[in-house]
Parts: sequence; structure tokens; C-alpha cells
Amino acid sequence: MGSLKMDHLELKEKRAEIAQMRDVFALMEEHGHEQVVFCRHARTGLKAIVAIHNTTLGPAIGGCRMIPYETTDEALEDVLRLSKGMTYKCGLADVDFGGGKMVIIGDPAEDKSPEMFRAVGRFVGGLNGRFFTGTDMGTEPEDFIHAARESASFVGLPQSHGGSGDTSIPTALGVLQGMRAIAAHLWGTPSLAGKKVAVQGIGKVGSKLVEMLLEEGASVVIADLCEERCAEWKQRAPEQVEISQVDVIHQMDCDIFAPCARGGIINDRTLDELQCRAIVGSANNQLEADRHGDLLHARGILYAPDYLVNAGGLIQVADELEGYQAERVLAKTKAIYDMVLEICERSKRENIPTCRAADRIVVERMENIADLRRMILGYDRNQNRKVGRG
Ligand code: NAD
Repeated sequence: MGSLKMDHLELKEKRAEIAQMRDVFALMEEHGHEQVVFCRHARTGLKAIVAIHNTTLGPAIGGCRMIPYETTDEALEDVLRLSKGMTYKCGLADVDFGGGKMVIIGDPAEDKSPEMFRAVGRFVGGLNGRFFTGTDMGTEPEDFIHAARESASFVGLPQSHGGSGDTSIPTALGVLQGMRAIAAHLWGTPSLAGKKVAVQGIGKVGSKLVEMLLEEGASVVIADLCEERCAEWKQRAPEQVEISQVDVIHQMDCDIFAPCARGGIINDRTLDELQCRAIVGSANNQLEADRHGDLLHARGILYAPDYLVNAGGLIQVADELEGYQAERVLAKTKAIYDMVLEICERSKRENIPTCRAADRIVVERMENIADLRRMILGYDRNQNRKVGRG
């Protein structure tokens, strides 16, 4: 009797939670999503959501995050926001993919199992090539070895399993290309020799970027929570490297500030403290809100949109689906230079912030491709169906 009462209470609580959830269709409409898929596998405890934002340019692609979200609403909001971001990232990187993302509700340290990722493999496989995914926060390339046993919808596996390897290398190169373009726009030459760059976070991407910058003849100010890592760089190149405290790195008087640690670094508090001429870095979602891009523009600080300059990793994993070619990845990553220049010129011409210029370019690209794909390619007599739409 007691346990029945408990069940009843739990049910009541669940109902109350469901009643509080925002309407999924309303949210999809708000962000312009095509499809949201909820996945549950009881035995492995998998609870996941896949959001496909827009497939105008091709099948959706985006990482799979595992976080102990407190509520389903929180997970849903995250996956909707991130998948939309991927549409813009793919659009600017000129890859034939659209925006998608997957979130798993769970603690990566406690809840992971090989079987859970095999269940991921079956759910994502069931989307029949409409969505491809790989590592993100809380997931590792090794997790997807299990998923890939169930379907071919995964990218970024370890190299021993056919993956393309460390994505931080093309990511750092893309950021460097962004800096060169910014230099060409601001100072008339892409050379970074003699420029001072403040790098926040010298992890996988930041450290490779520092190495490239030193080779280019730039000087760097670096900050990282790991002080030893900073000291090692200072020892390697004492003339070119300065160390800053983590809480003031964004205040450095420098040519370029490169956020390579965490998101939201450009916010109401930090904006007035910036003393750089431009911002180019790998961190995702550097602007806490879109309006901070407008405020940077008003302050005359040139911002290279993060989702463009950090697209090297996406370019690499997307290339796996075309039959990975290192030269092609290199060429596409180098092309980030041209796109950053185009955005800077458009921002100047139309007097709009660079982040808005970037968004306009994506929307125009998608409209052009959508129009092109209205043309039918032919009729498959064997399968008795039209082919080549979309
Ligand atoms: P990472 O975890 O290897 O490095 C992050 C570094 O930042 C660490 O060394 C950490 O100690 C440091 N850090 C954390 N908080 C800090 C703070 N407040 N001040 C200074 N340093 C701090 O991560 P990563 O792969 O180098 O990625 C860096 C950023 O770039 C992340 O925002 C990531 O989402 C983004 N990004 C990475 C890739 C990629 O291919 N690795 C691709 C696209 C975007």
C-alpha cells in the first residue's frame, strides 16, 4: 500500500514537471527546427535528444554532448540552441552539411557504458543518414567505437578505427587564418610579425596556436589555469612570451585577443575592459549574447565570428564522410581567410557588426542552394521514384 502511495506521488510530481515543460513545437517554431527526436533505452539508462535544425545544405552534423542536465527542458533548450549554431557554422565553412546536435542526459563519469553507446548507434542509425555525430563535451572518440558497431553515422573516431585524428590542429590553423585576414583588413598585410596576441587558455587548440604565432614572429601574452603550462612556454621562448593572470588576460593592451578557453567571455563586465583591436579565438559562443557583438562593433573592436574561425575541426570530421583527404581539409581550412575578409568588408560596407554580416551570408547561401535544389535531376526507373531533390 505504502509503495503504491509513493508511485502515486511520483506520478503526480512527473505530471507537474511535464505540465511545466515548454511546448516542443512552439520551441521548434521559435528557432526554426525541422525535427526533434527523443530517444530512451531503459536497460542502458540512455535518455537522449537529437535536434536537426536545417538540412538545406545537406544532412545534419554536430557533436554529441553528455551532461547531467537537471531537467529535460534544460537539455532540450541546449540541443536546440547548439543545433541551430551548427547550421550557421556549416554554412560559413562551405561544407555540404546542415545543423544538428545530440545531447545525452547523464553524468559522463558515472552513467556511461559500451551498451549505452551501442544504443546511441541504433537510434542515430535509425535516422537513415539525416544526422551524423561525434565527440563533444562529456564524450570521447572511444565512446563512438561502440556506437559505430551499430550504424555508420559517426565521425571523429580514433585513427585506429578510421577517424581522421586530432581536430585541434585544423582548428588552430583556422584561427590563425582568421588572424591573418583580420591583419590584412586592419593593417594592410596578413603578416602577424611584430603583433601582440593575448591567448586565453593554452590547451589543445591554444597551445598549437601559440606555436604557430611564435613561428610567424608574433609575441604572445598567455594565461591558463595550469600555471606550469604557461611557465613551459615562457622557458621555450622567453623573448616572445609573457604570462598574465587568468582574470585579467582580456584586459591586455594588445593587437588581438584570442579566447581559447570557455564561452561567454565577451559580456557586460568584460566588454569595457577590452584593450585589443580585434578578437579572434577558438572558444565556442564567445559572445554572451548577440547584443555584445553590436557593442563590440560600436567600440570599434573587430570580431571574427567564433563559429567561422573555429570551423577547422568541423571541416576535418565532415571530410571523413566524403572519404577523408588531408589536402582537402587543409585547403578548406585555409579558405577561412577569404571568408573572414569577405565578412569584414561587408561589415564595413553595410556598417553592421561582423556577426550580423556572417549571419546574412549564411542565409543568402542557403537561399541560393535551396533554389538550386528545386531542380530535379532525373527519374530512377528501377526504383520508380524521382531522384535528386535536395
Ligand atoms: P582544452 O580543454 O584542451 O583547453 C582549454 C584550456 O583552457 C585548458 O588548458 C584550461 O586549463 C584553460 N582554461 C579554462 N578556463 C580558463 C580560464 N578561465 N582562463 C584561462 N584558461 C582557462 O580545450 P580545447 O580543445 O583547446 O578547446 C578550447 C576552446 O575551443 C573550447 O571552447 C572549445 O569548445 C573550442 N573548440 C575546440 C575545438 C577542437 O577541435 N578542440 C574545435 C572548435 C572549438
